Amino acid sequence: MNGTKKGRILSGMRPTGRLHIGHLVGVLSNWRKLQDEYECYFEIADWHALTDAYDKTDQLRDNIFNITLDWLATGIDPEKSVLFVQSHVLQHAELHVLFSMLVSLSRLLRVPTFKEKIAELRVSELKHKTKKVLEQSAETAVNSFLEILEQYEQGNLDSASYKAVLKAKLKDAFMESLKDAFTGSEEDLPYGHLVNYGLLGYPILQAADILVYRADHVPIGADQLPHLELTREIARRFNSMYDRVFPIPEPVLTEFPKVPGTDGRKMSKSYGNTIYISDPPNEIEKKIRKAYTDPAKIRKNDPGHPEQCPIFAYHRIFNPDEVPQIEEDCKAGKLGCVACKLNLIKHMNEQLEPIREMRSKYEANPQLVTEILNEGEKKARAEAEATMIKVREAMKLW
Ligand code: SF4
Repeated sequence: MNGTKKGRILSGMRPTGRLHIGHLVGVLSNWRKLQDEYECYFEIADWHALTDAYDKTDQLRDNIFNITLDWLATGIDPEKSVLFVQSHVLQHAELHVLFSMLVSLSRLLRVPTFKEKIAELRVSELKHKTKKVLEQSAETAVNSFLEILEQYEQGNLDSASYKAVLKAKLKDAFMESLKDAFTGSEEDLPYGHLVNYGLLGYPILQAADILVYRADHVPIGADQLPHLELTREIARRFNSMYDRVFPIPEPVLTEFPKVPGTDGRKMSKSYGNTIYISDPPNEIEKKIRKAYTDPAKIRKNDPGHPEQCPIFAYHRIFNPDEVPQIEEDCKAGKLGCVACKLNLIKHMNEQLEPIREMRSKYEANPQLVTEILNEGEKKARAEAEATMIKVREAMKLW
């Protein structure tokens, strides 16, 4: 450990695309501070990105390049921190295999993120199943209807029995096709076919990521504390079973401000409501002009509710000095949304401009970006190998 720093940190991001302003004010600004206080290892977690996108790797290299550009442009400094790609340091995989012996299946099934993911997968499976069942029911009902209509037209049924048979047949057709679809509660639905081992083993790989560098601190939000617990359990278990190799990592509790998307929901690529760090000025303007505001404020004079408005949330980030005045004027009906948005566009672009400039410089020099990652990889691998020598010795693997 570097004597002048408080300890060692491992943190990372999955390379899933360009980063947005939520990342900027949350993780990245925190990392920028941490790198002055701690010895930081920042990992581009490409193996983790594969757990639910193993069949979509075409974009992976571009995503790694883009995330590196975003990190460098926002002040993550390769002179202060180690920036590297997870899959380039094979020691993570070795430690993952060894740790996987120390964790029971039932413990993994209780990991909160796994349970959340299963709930998500069950909902999407149910939606898919429901759609199929309804299509099937509709088809069966139409066929029954045509069959009975034919009999009626041939004079085999009088009007009263035609209606009664039709009603009964249609009901049967629906019930029959729905019968198997919704048995049991959502909790009882099987999910084994929805999950690969990678997803189940995700937290073990995370533990390996942290402990292969003997990191003693991990920056997380309070709601993520249970996720760190498994890593701490694994470290304790290993130390007591073999030898004291690992520190028990402590959380560096961090506030991650919630940044809404342009439609007021959580900012997420899947909702199409993101503002990227790398968006050019005209794109920022387009997105902000189209953004959702308080629906109760139709005219300038209408009193607004800024706390429900994403534009106001962005003012807090990019224009904090004017926030009290904007709040007062919005509530009093003295400020119109168009003027409020134009003011924001100006401040956002002013603050994002140096980041965009820095990003463009690195983007124009991909060789330099590769060198930075190669250099990081060398440092990371040396440290990871030093840990693995201790691990192999402790486990008497040679
Ligand atoms: S004036 Fe500004 S803060 Fe108020 S609702 Fe309009 S955009 Fe939002």
